[in-house]
Amino acid sequence: MPKKIFITRKIPAIAEEMLRAKGFEVDVFEKESIPKQKKLIKIIKKGQYDGVITMINDEVDADMLDALPSVKIFANFGVGFNNFKPGEAQKRGVVMTNTGGTSSMAVAECTIALILGLATRIVEGDEYVRAGKYKGWRPMDFFGLDLAGKTLGLVGVGNIGSKVAHMAHGGFDMNIIYYDLNRNEQIEKDSGAVKADSLDDLLRSSDFVSLHVPLLDSTHHLINEQRLKLMKPEAFLINTSRGPVVDEKALVQALKDKVIRGAGLDVFENEPDLVPGLIKLPNVILTPHIASARESARIEMAKTVAQNIIDFFDGKTPANKVN
Ligand code: NAD
Repeated sequence: MPKKIFITRKIPAIAEEMLRAKGFEVDVFEKESIPKQKKLIKIIKKGQYDGVITMINDEVDADMLDALPSVKIFANFGVGFNNFKPGEAQKRGVVMTNTGGTSSMAVAECTIALILGLATRIVEGDEYVRAGKYKGWRPMDFFGLDLAGKTLGLVGVGNIGSKVAHMAHGGFDMNIIYYDLNRNEQIEKDSGAVKADSLDDLLRSSDFVSLHVPLLDSTHHLINEQRLKLMKPEAFLINTSRGPVVDEKALVQALKDKVIRGAGLDVFENEPDLVPGLIKLPNVILTPHIASARESARIEMAKTVAQNIIDFFDGKTPANKVN
């Protein structure tokens, strides 16, 4: 009997092609909408699937695992896997995988784009022109910020954070400090990065703070009201990791009160909802979780997610196993 795989959204065709070439039967959720967990459970149960390719907004918790005993692997189409409960899956003998490392360049570039966007005030400028407010060049308008010599504090320097360090130091002469559970000698050599003694020290001394940690219990609200107050009033916060790493309500208040100067956010605490007041603020750039949204990254993610499934059913340990 061929193994059956369900993909919870349309992803690049290469994943389906790789799976079919290995004899899998593959079905894809046909609608454009994002299915609720209840609906997914119904479809997957009915189809008695052996494996499921999930998206980062498909919650796979104990209830779902219990409801779907036929499924032996949940393979996430995404680097972050905070939608998973790897421990619960392990207890039930179910494997979970992610696509670690596949979109690092794209996310690092998006992070740099947010830093540059804040420093050059490009979004504000665009809005100003479109609103018909541009009446001619004046020498004292729209002052931005030099990046050279400024300090970029990176919180988490794994695949993405270390690429941001390289780009910001090599491309813009920024000084890099970092906070991570582990020392990263590579970025110390490559980008002259200095490891901060603590997160609080990093926050006190950075002009830009950029977050690149996974969302875990230990990183939930890592940036909270107290920590925002440690930042310089002229500093910016950039978040391309996961929304709940920042207490978004506290951030909005800090931005309103000018505790910090601005923020660039690709991710939000309760996507797609935003904390009231956030969109009214002029000193933020907001993007809809698009840091890895480019063809090359999504094709790599599709290949990786399919390979994880293929390896698992071949009896191998998938390279991106997370439990
Ligand atoms: P990674 O695992 O390579 O690096 C994470 C780093 O964070 C590691 O060096 C780890 O030691 C460090 N870390 C973990 N817990 C920490 C803590 N409590 N304090 C300090 N450091 C800690 O991951 P990555 O590939 O660099 O991705 C980072 C995150 O970016 C992902 O988990 C994901 O949530 C997010 N992401 C977002 C997008 C997007 O579209 N916006 C795309 C890809 C990834």
